[in-house]
Amino acid sequence: MEKKIICITCPKGCVITVNGDPEKGTIDSLEGNECRRGDTYARNEFIHPVRILTSSVKTEGCAAPLMAVRTSAPIPKELLFAGMEEIKKITVKAPVAVGDVLVENFLGTGANLVAAGSIE
Ligand code: SF4
Repeated sequence: MEKKIICITCPKGCVITVNGDPEKGTIDSLEGNECRRGDTYARNEFIHPVRILTSSVKTEGCAAPLMAVRTSAPIPKELLFAGMEEIKKITVKAPVAVGDVLVENFLGTGANLVAAGSIE
């Protein structure tokens, strides 16, 4: 299959065309990148796309009803929906500081779910 990927590594936004089989993890050709960083980005995006998951959790014991959270590292894109469902179930109690770990090894990804905001 062929996939056009916009490199988001720098503001230039090169459009990189990748041909290969993402299921098998093989790449036959890759063109359109203007530097090595784009090559790495496009290869990862083609074979195993990942994203930082950002959202909000419910709170108790404070005035703010929600607090921002994110994963400490990118997680597989196919787990984003399951991640949102898990986050909906979470309620945190004040106080929480930025960077506090709320869930270790979130969805078995190795990344933690951490506070991106704080509540008192
Ligand atoms: S390929 Fe290189 S120059 Fe092009 S957007 Fe990516 S990082 Fe920037």
